[in-house]
Amino acid sequence: MTEQQKTFLTKSTIKAGDLEHKRKVAFNIRKYNDAVLKGKKQFSDLESARKKAKNIKWKAIESLDKHLEKFEQNFTANGGKLIWAENAEEALQAVLQICRDKKARQVVKSKSMVTEEIHLNHFLAENGIESVETDLGEYIQQLDGEPPYHIVTPAMHKSKEDVARVFHEKLGTDPNLTPAEITMVTRKKLREKYITAEVGITGGNFLIADTGAVCLTENEGNGRLSTAFPPTHIAIVGIEKVIPSLSDLQLYWPLLATFGTGQTVTVYNSIFTGPRKAGETDGHQEMYVILLDNGRTNLLRPEVRESMYCIRCGSCLNACPVYKNIGGHAYGTTYTGPIGSVITPRMVGMAEEKHLSYASSLCGNCTDVCPLKINIHGMLLENRSTAVNSKLNGFMEDNSWRLWNLAMLSRRLMNTATSSAKDKVVNKVFKDSWGHSRGALHFAPKSFNAMWKERQGK
Ligand code: SF4
Repeated sequence: MTEQQKTFLTKSTIKAGDLEHKRKVAFNIRKYNDAVLKGKKQFSDLESARKKAKNIKWKAIESLDKHLEKFEQNFTANGGKLIWAENAEEALQAVLQICRDKKARQVVKSKSMVTEEIHLNHFLAENGIESVETDLGEYIQQLDGEPPYHIVTPAMHKSKEDVARVFHEKLGTDPNLTPAEITMVTRKKLREKYITAEVGITGGNFLIADTGAVCLTENEGNGRLSTAFPPTHIAIVGIEKVIPSLSDLQLYWPLLATFGTGQTVTVYNSIFTGPRKAGETDGHQEMYVILLDNGRTNLLRPEVRESMYCIRCGSCLNACPVYKNIGGHAYGTTYTGPIGSVITPRMVGMAEEKHLSYASSLCGNCTDVCPLKINIHGMLLENRSTAVNSKLNGFMEDNSWRLWNLAMLSRRLMNTATSSAKDKVVNKVFKDSWGHSRGALHFAPKSFNAMWKERQGK
């Protein structure tokens, strides 16, 4: 068993028994579910919209190389600077180089899972640069020293009382602040940072090939402020975020808003086509886009390629019975829930992370709720199959299943072995896994087949 697997089992076991955690998460997911139902009403034909969105992503990913080159051409023609990063280290070094060139001591950052993936804040801190999260949920998590809990709602596991406690402990505020007061404290703190930061860093929800633009969608205006005040803007974006055309946003923006938070449209939607041009009076003076691979090309394999269509709405996390029980932190990875369990083993390494693909009941709820109809549970099975075929499951597990298979295929064995003999063997084999938190298994005294024969008088 790998260290990652052991940690996952320990953390998920603890969380699955934490009733207060379940209560908070269930409360927030219930609110989300109600909002999504309302948001969906804006579509006159939701099924067609979902199919069309999937088809456009299919087109984008099938010729990913061409779309990315087109993006590069158009973005650089607009005055932007493009950097290709094959892995996290290349992306981090590129950011550091830009910050050093600009003599930056402080950066402001809007919410971005890609920067979590490459551990940007930690890296910048090691290099003497303060990186401040400006999304309220991310700011709370940064103050509390925790990674985001959820790809859309980073502090979903915290109640308003928890947040007031974090502010009290870290900022010395009144321990009973209301949500409105918490927001005002954050606003005051962050406004100073926007003005003094030399560099603003964002992710990107979509890369638009035909205009060379980066699209950012957010609810607090912090993304806009992070890019409007600092003279330099760096957008770090995964290569799978590309869509062919600006007009495709008319479909993706409402889909992302509805499936992400239940809104009809997100409050702030920005399209960055490059730096300020001659004669323009505002906007950043320089803009860089770092296009990140970091294992994404592994997802191009046909059996998991659909995972690259993901628009990170978080819907599959909210629908997953496993996620709802063990929460976002038990996974120990940046991308969690069903889609995280598909992509992480492929991006990071099947040997280290294959256990995530087994953390699913395969109920298919994730696939049902995905706005792009991505076959998530099918790809979880593909990952399991790859793990088995690559002989990553270990001698004990492989041979246990082989024996089980032999026994299940032998009617004679199933009928002749007494139920107490079968009880003994099975409970011994599964003592440490099944038996750890469940009662012993008991076989019926006679199999159905034996009873049927008796009934027929044979
Ligand atoms: S896989 Fe689908 S449901 Fe899950 S985050 Fe991505 S787009 Fe949303």
